[in-house]
Amino acid sequence: MGSAQPVEPEQANTCGGNKVLNSCGYSLPSASKSRGNVTNHKLPQTIAVAGAGLLGRLLAWQLQRAGINITLFEAGSFTPDAPPTIRAAAFTAAGMVAPLSEAVVSDEGVYRMGIFALQQWPTWIAQLPATGEPLFFNNGSLVVAHQQDTSELEQFERELGFVLPGCAGYQHLDQHDIHQLEPDLHSHFHSGLFLTEEGHVNNREFLRLLGDEIINQGITVRTHTPVDVFPGKVVTEKGEEHFDLVIDCRGLGAKQQLRNLRGVRGETLHVETREIHLQRPVRLMHPRYQLYVVPKPNHRFIIGATQIESEDRSPVTIQSNLELSSALYTLSPAFAEARIIEMDSNLRPAFMDNLPRVNSQDGLISANGLFRHGYLLAPAVVENVLAHIFRKPEPIFSDLLNQH
Ligand SMILES: Cc1cc2nc3c(=O)[nH]c(=O)nc-3n(C[C@H](O)[C@H](O)[C@H](O)COP(=O)(O)OP(=O)(O)OC[C@H]3O[C@@H](n4cnc5c(N)ncnc54)[C@H](O)[C@@H]3O)c2cc1C
Repeated sequence: MGSAQPVEPEQANTCGGNKVLNSCGYSLPSASKSRGNVTNHKLPQTIAVAGAGLLGRLLAWQLQRAGINITLFEAGSFTPDAPPTIRAAAFTAAGMVAPLSEAVVSDEGVYRMGIFALQQWPTWIAQLPATGEPLFFNNGSLVVAHQQDTSELEQFERELGFVLPGCAGYQHLDQHDIHQLEPDLHSHFHSGLFLTEEGHVNNREFLRLLGDEIINQGITVRTHTPVDVFPGKVVTEKGEEHFDLVIDCRGLGAKQQLRNLRGVRGETLHVETREIHLQRPVRLMHPRYQLYVVPKPNHRFIIGATQIESEDRSPVTIQSNLELSSALYTLSPAFAEARIIEMDSNLRPAFMDNLPRVNSQDGLISANGLFRHGYLLAPAVVENVLAHIFRKPEPIFSDLLNQH
């Protein structure tokens, strides 16, 4: 396995006090930056959280743990398996936490927040009651291309080097290395990259367990209750309700109020097969469509995802199904016998620059725009919101989340 170029450590970033540098020369910030003693500041006693998707659940949970009285409002159902009328994008997501791959399509700030996520997910998961079911996997990810598409792989690496100069968070793989890492992949892959700093969340199970924990904590959960949000109050169809603070986590549901928020359609297939085992997500670089396969428990895999500039929430199209299925088949012919158990589509909430924002004013905090980076960026966004609530002088990642 050949290594990438030796790293020239970058200057440590400014969002954490920890001096440990990762393989790309970045320091790993500490979540404790967003907590700690609060002096001369009265904490809110009652908080309404609007939206029980990814951000809403995480924030409601962490704030109730801090002793604040939380009411969680959700327009739809609370359970992932309920009929998908309007449900959180969090349930459709593949759950990848992929700082390197996503840096290529965004920027260095996304990478910085992403490496924070790799340390924060295990910390959060350890705070949930243990079930024996693994919820976070830190096995890296694999990027491969067919021989005729090697230039796509080379371009991916060039872009990675452009966004993160000198980064050593990946290794070059030859055919033998690929077989060692993922023996069930098709033997015709001659070159690839092993992105060591990537992981994935067993996200539907995580959301389910977090939902149970939210109920057990005694948080008031109001499902099928869409709200409008204002500083210090929410408005339901029955009238106004007042709180010390409102946190808007409605994702695309906040579109009426947040300028430039849009939905970006994404479609996935869920398949089941015992014929193939993968230890980690695999991405296929292709000139026309890029595909990833994420292994899930019980011999299941999520294949995704299309990215279409449309707010159409209708079911998966034949074209998307064909593209995803045929690309999947080229990863391994063993997928031919896999059973399609679900097709899912949803909208990613995104601002025009596809970067997230946290906007804090008296009585109202809004956190939105996680685009295709919900699991990647939720740790940074949640800790930033908490830092605002606890009035920390330098909220974590404020240079990336609060400067818009
Ligand atoms: C196909 C696809 C694949 C993806 N894969 C990944 C991935 O691998 N890794 C990754 O990091 N990210 C991924 N994402 C992105 C991720 O799902 C989103 O970024 C994330 O879910 C956004 O979180 P959120 O809490 O802001 O919004 P959501 O998770 O969408 O939650 C918003 C919630 O607010 C509720 N709501 C809306 N309006 C109202 C209202 N008026 N009142 C009350 N409640 C309301 C909604 O019903 C919903 O429950 C993917 C997304 C898609 C669509």
